[in-house]
Amino acid sequence: MLGGYSGGGRAHKIRLGEMTVEGFSRAPIKSFWRIPELKLGFDLGWQPWEYMGTPRWFITHTHMDHILALPAYAARRQMMDMTPPTVYLPAQKAGDAQMLLNAFTRLDNGRLPCRLVGVMPGDELEISRELVVTVSKTYHSVHSVGYIVWERRKKLKPEYLGLPGPKIRDLKESGVEITYEVRFPRVAYLGDSTVQGLDETPAMYRADVLITEMTFVSPDVTADMLRSAGHIHLDDIVKRQDRFENKMVIAGHFSARYTNHEILTRVHAALPDMLGGRLHLWL
Ligand SMILES: [Zn+2]
Ligand SMILES: [Zn+2]
Repeated sequence: MLGGYSGGGRAHKIRLGEMTVEGFSRAPIKSFWRIPELKLGFDLGWQPWEYMGTPRWFITHTHMDHILALPAYAARRQMMDMTPPTVYLPAQKAGDAQMLLNAFTRLDNGRLPCRLVGVMPGDELEISRELVVTVSKTYHSVHSVGYIVWERRKKLKPEYLGLPGPKIRDLKESGVEITYEVRFPRVAYLGDSTVQGLDETPAMYRADVLITEMTFVSPDVTADMLRSAGHIHLDDIVKRQDRFENKMVIAGHFSARYTNHEILTRVHAALPDMLGGRLHLWL
């Protein structure tokens, strides 16, 4: 009999303010997440039928447990007469992903319209008037990136704050830039990475919701193993427990070699207050 993970793998759901976070992640089985209110999702290791209505997806890397459902997602939207989806992924792999879609077009004898957009760390993606997604560097065994979704708002520059309304309107009409942009990190999605992927992008620690991996929880995993596989250990999180300013931290992508019981026992022993109740384990 197999030890460790015993199946299931259904999506979980939790609300924070006006956002719902849905998804599931277990290494190396499948990772898929979405925030329906923001009309976007992360990773396509699987695709529950109802997720197809979300039109935009951000893939962190092309390991199979993170991209396997790409053809099904594109096919379902086509079949249901929805607009072609936009899917972002590391630029180095965009050509290969297109070849995967092309192969399925031939196998399936059906069209798979999908806008694939290659991204690099440092990119800023304009999603809507309110939302910008930034792409961050992560450290994994294949080309990989993380994503942060920012809400942006226009604010009046301080020098115009006391002015009456008509005066402000006149200035605006004369072409003077009277506002500046402020950004709030709403959701940070790390994907698969060593803890460097968090440390080098401080906004990951500040986003309202951080979705992070915690692949390993047992003491037999060495620093070398973590580096070469490109993953985070429970101990990495314990060492940084004072850095998390997030309202909610969701940890997933636990290795399938662990039972749920072992994960719960080890995490609760190492972090008894669960980051002040903010840490959620999705098993
Ligand atoms: Zn993975
Ligand atoms: Zn991976």
